[in-house]
Amino acid sequence: MNLRLQNLRRLLSEHGLDAILVSAASNRRYLSGFTGSAGFLLISQTEAILATDFRYTEQARAQAPDFRIVRIKGELDWFPGTVSEIGVKAIGFESDDLAVTGYRHLVHVGRKLAPKSRPRLIETRGIVESLRALKDEGEMRLIEEAARFADAAIERARSVVQPNMTERQLAWELERFLREKGSEALPFEIIVASGPNGARPHARPSERVIGEGEPVVIDLCARIDGYCSDITRTISLGKPSEMMTRISNIVRRAQVAAIEGIAPGMSGAEADHLARQVIDDAGHGEEFGHGLGHGVGLDVHEEPRLGPKSEDILAPGMVFTIEPGIYIEGWGGVRIEDMVLLGQKGPKVLTRAKRLEHEEAR
Ligand code: ZN
Ligand code: ZN
Repeated sequence: MNLRLQNLRRLLSEHGLDAILVSAASNRRYLSGFTGSAGFLLISQTEAILATDFRYTEQARAQAPDFRIVRIKGELDWFPGTVSEIGVKAIGFESDDLAVTGYRHLVHVGRKLAPKSRPRLIETRGIVESLRALKDEGEMRLIEEAARFADAAIERARSVVQPNMTERQLAWELERFLREKGSEALPFEIIVASGPNGARPHARPSERVIGEGEPVVIDLCARIDGYCSDITRTISLGKPSEMMTRISNIVRRAQVAAIEGIAPGMSGAEADHLARQVIDDAGHGEEFGHGLGHGVGLDVHEEPRLGPKSEDILAPGMVFTIEPGIYIEGWGGVRIEDMVLLGQKGPKVLTRAKRLEHEEAR
């Protein structure tokens, strides 16, 4: 934890900030270890303060030994006193997280201080997120364990799918399997999208009965000690149709092009292009309507982003997904999603479940 604070303090100086007010739940947890659902961190070069309410003060003391715990009695009542006590002026806040009401409130309570000790509130984006993008060994152990759960659930899907089963039945079967195996509550609702429903990348499981030979997009996740995995396979009940085999081959070729081509120093857009080129060349460019992937960690979608417009620079130690797809209205979709850890030489694939219905995994 101390190393994380050290790294954050280095970034604070680089951004010209005396302190940062952390409100985003995953950032709060990452820096302090505190898993409660409410609270703020205020971190300066010398102070690390966790403000939370009565429900969580005991838990906060146990989980966040590097932090001084301040009890919140009413919203931001603690803020002016603490700010003047530690003498910070330029305070960054997380503009992607703090709601407009929260921000206005912050400005309002800041005015309670004499003009010369009034804090300057500075909009920041992605400071803690940039630290979180690089995983340490402990985080990697949890992510790899979550990836094993995801693999097992995909195998489970193949073994239980049967005629007359609905999407919702299959989704529930997989959710129950993951929870019984020991996953924490799933970070998103499992996607089971059969036939034409698969043309919508984020379809919700319906009462539709899964038909034979059609593509069934299954996108699922597990969570171990806060850390997520994310995997998609497109399976079929019985032998896949010719169309499904043809589309699956293109998607897999696109994915392999990205896995083999991605290297540290590349931007998210360059990585995206590696896969998009293959799908474009096959005449399906218009049908790959989302980005190539996203970071995974405490959040199932985090930094870095891989997409046509992403300027994020990929660095060793990052964990992200590579998930090309082709979605054809009225027919369905095929997506193959794997998680990788970027090393010095390129990505190491973390999820391993069989990728294609018609051939063994590579
Ligand atoms: Zn996914
Ligand atoms: Zn994903």
